Amino acid sequence: MAKYPHDQIEKKWQTRWAREGLFRLDTASERPKYYCLMMYPYPSGELHVGHGRNYVIGDALARFKKMEGFEVLAPMGWDAFGLPAENAAIERDIHPAEWTRDNIAKMKQQFYDWGVVYDWTREVTSCDPAYYRWTQWLFLQMYKAGLAYRKAASVNWCPSCKTVLANEQVIDGGCERCGATIEERFLEQWFLKITQFADQLLDDLDTLEDWPERVVAMQRNWIDRSVGVETDFPIKQSDQTLRVFTTRPDTIFGATFMVISPEHPAVAPLAAASPSKDEIEAAVKKFIADKISGRGRTEPSKEGVFLDAYCVNPATGEDIPIYVAPYVLMEYGTGAIMAVPAHDQRDFEFAQRYGLEIREVIRPGNGDTPLPEAAYTGEGVMVNSGPFDGTPSVEGFDRVADDFEQRGIGERRVNYRLRDWLVSRQRYWGTPIPIIHCRDCGTVAVPDEDLPVLLPEVVDFKPRGDGKSPLATNDEFKHVPCPQCGGAAERDTDTMDTFVDSSWYFLRYLSPTDETKAFDREMVDKWMPVDQYIGGVEHAILHLMYARYFVKFLHSQDLVSFDEPFARLFTQGMICKDGVKMSKSKGNVVSPERLIERMGADTMRLYILFSGPPERDAEWNDESVEGCFRFLNRVYRQFQSHNHILKQPFTESIDYIALSDAERKLYRKVHWTIDKVLADIHDSFHFNTAISATMELTNDLYAFVEVAGDLQEGSNGAAVVRFAFDAMIRLLAPMTPHLSEELWERMGHGRSVFDTPMPEGDPQYATQETYDLVIQINSKIRAREPVPYGTDPKVLEKTALANERVKELVGDRKPIKVVVIPNKLVNIVVK
Ligand SMILES: [Zn+2]
Ligand SMILES: [Zn+2]
Repeated sequence: MAKYPHDQIEKKWQTRWAREGLFRLDTASERPKYYCLMMYPYPSGELHVGHGRNYVIGDALARFKKMEGFEVLAPMGWDAFGLPAENAAIERDIHPAEWTRDNIAKMKQQFYDWGVVYDWTREVTSCDPAYYRWTQWLFLQMYKAGLAYRKAASVNWCPSCKTVLANEQVIDGGCERCGATIEERFLEQWFLKITQFADQLLDDLDTLEDWPERVVAMQRNWIDRSVGVETDFPIKQSDQTLRVFTTRPDTIFGATFMVISPEHPAVAPLAAASPSKDEIEAAVKKFIADKISGRGRTEPSKEGVFLDAYCVNPATGEDIPIYVAPYVLMEYGTGAIMAVPAHDQRDFEFAQRYGLEIREVIRPGNGDTPLPEAAYTGEGVMVNSGPFDGTPSVEGFDRVADDFEQRGIGERRVNYRLRDWLVSRQRYWGTPIPIIHCRDCGTVAVPDEDLPVLLPEVVDFKPRGDGKSPLATNDEFKHVPCPQCGGAAERDTDTMDTFVDSSWYFLRYLSPTDETKAFDREMVDKWMPVDQYIGGVEHAILHLMYARYFVKFLHSQDLVSFDEPFARLFTQGMICKDGVKMSKSKGNVVSPERLIERMGADTMRLYILFSGPPERDAEWNDESVEGCFRFLNRVYRQFQSHNHILKQPFTESIDYIALSDAERKLYRKVHWTIDKVLADIHDSFHFNTAISATMELTNDLYAFVEVAGDLQEGSNGAAVVRFAFDAMIRLLAPMTPHLSEELWERMGHGRSVFDTPMPEGDPQYATQETYDLVIQINSKIRAREPVPYGTDPKVLEKTALANERVKELVGDRKPIKVVVIPNKLVNIVVK
């Protein structure tokens, strides 16, 4: 029997798809739209099979949707600016542009070899001036709307990447890219005012029903909105006050001391006024040093130092001591907290350590409680709270807030953890910030007609580490006349965070070559939001939050009609080998080229889709790859051996009544498989179970022809077999497109299988036939249970042992032997 000539078949179809533009978008199509988007990758070099999952799932889905009758937009592009390109280029002593270009060429070839097809006429590349011109334009729209601003701030500095990072790019005190411990620097930087949209970003998470819950939860936690009261505690012997934000104003009568952050501006003057000045300053210095070095970042210690000063609790009128402690962060709230040790665990531990008063002001539901071992953080009734005694604490928030607002000593406030997005980067390989600094006019936007501000090609692009970008050394780039007054001025020499580039690329795919505007409103309004977005969960609060912000900004400017970019999100699990994520640095990658050479792209695709639920991590398994290859060989051989009846398309209608039992069984199995495969892919992308079902069908087909023998053209058996192949080829097509196209053509079809609808299962035949499994104990019939034909023997054994009557009869005895006769009986042997 001829071996499956995957090499020849795959080349043939890849060429044809490219020539005919399989996924070339027809913008005039009447079909419903389906925008299938995969996160565009860094052109980092050759892809290994671990990367493949994202693209193979996306491609299979695009093909599936095309067969379901949608006009599918499946574009691809390159997130081409950024540190990896720059670092690799420095290492190899070539220009980042060259390195990037080479990698793009390599990766495109890989997609081609995998049978992953995109509409390449819509390719976008973020480092292309034709693209970043519009990134600059969008930045300026934000600037003009007051949403891009420059501010001197203490920022996260990666000493290894030699650039600042956004808060979102600092993970547990380390750099998101390289893991180096982050330092703090004080620099003047550009920020995008994402906080302006904090409420919308948070509230609209509720509308993202088809996003993974964990991604929604991560965004919610990152934005972290809290409603509370801000109030001032006057400092004794001073005209200054300490402002605090609290979400529990009902506990203010229990605030027995104040804690402020080591970086709080009140620290220095208060320390200076104290006789213990030196001690305090030394302690504060240590707290700051610990914070910068990353020590104590995960679990800040409860250490602190008394500032030798007091402030007045505005509720009680009492003087309370002021402490400095690193557990209060300047970045949160106001950098000062009223400490309520009886009802906050951190304050409780601090009070115990320094012998401070712990005063109960919320009493749990029923009656007296002794001083607890830990803070009581629940609800209850207000006590020791003057006029509020007896008020249920749930009402306390509003009553205390009202009282403070009436007396003018505090007001309700909403606070967020979300901070504005720091977008300046002191690196070369990025989009230049289109701003000119003039001594007389201040910051001036580069006029639209002067865009793009081109990244100069020849520049010493190695990072400098002094807080300045390499572009600062390029006088030709830097010195320009001010567009406003014509005087001597300087360009901003920082580049933008690459997450700015990727915050809008999905809009550019709709008009990728338009030289007059960033995106075509009519086109994006028609095609957005993205129907299905596919990518890694590592972008949960970076890219996915920033892209939502951009779209909300554009919506607020009436530049687009939609206000969320991605209707459905799917985050695929990783492929692991030897228990860890496949990666070059760990040396556990599987090369797709060798795999394809040996077994073909369809085998690789099938395996990737078969290796478990796609949202979960999967362990690479060589044997299972071989199994997938054997399966495709089997399909091919079965087709070959029935060539004589598979030379024309299946067109006849089948008369169920006229079929033999065996024919009926196969016929029903086909209907059942159709339903199963369509539901699995449709509902949950569970290609793995869809493939299992198809494999089952081939087993049944095999068993059928074994018995049926030579099938004559015109017979019912031949019609059912043709029906089975017709359905199987279409069902497999999204997953193994090359073989499916080939067999489809050999069945005499004149057009691509992807221009053919998916088969439809008939519900009256799609139910799987069941039989009564006979369960014996020591060869005596004890029970019967209905199970589907073809149930696995192991499952039959389990079913039998789990039967209630059997459990009763067997009791504690351990079966000596279990005999399984598939499709018939199970006999349990016990003593
Ligand atoms: Zn770094
Ligand atoms: Zn000027």
